[in-house]
Amino acid sequence: MAPFAVCSNQLCDYFTDLELDCGNTTRCPRCRSKTLTACQSCRKEITEEGVDGKFTMCNFCDHDVRRAPPPTVDRAAEEQERRTEIAVKRLEELILLVMEKVAAEAGITQEDLAEAFEAGTEGNI
Ligand SMILES: [Zn+2]
Ligand SMILES: [Zn+2]
Repeated sequence: MAPFAVCSNQLCDYFTDLELDCGNTTRCPRCRSKTLTACQSCRKEITEEGVDGKFTMCNFCDHDVRRAPPPTVDRAAEEQERRTEIAVKRLEELILLVMEKVAAEAGITQEDLAEAFEAGTEGNI
């Protein structure tokens, strides 16, 4: 079947058969909205009418071809986020280790740090 161009305006039900109508296919002649030749959700060409008899419901992904679907919980993205969290935690631990090493090399002990901290807080009181 010929691909169709569907008006992107959700209030407009204009569509055209691109094979029969080779005229203006980028703008809807009714409302001047952009027309779509592919589903916004799955990027497949709109080749036939949807189950509702209109050209708005995609046959491939069952979404409105004029609108990308609402963001769903992406497991891969969740996993990525979890990994990033772990990486950040590891980096913090690494920074702490490096700081401890630098402090040790500079001859600064935990007691020195504690004393410096106490001296600092005393000064503030
Ligand atoms: Zn329109
Ligand atoms: Zn689709």
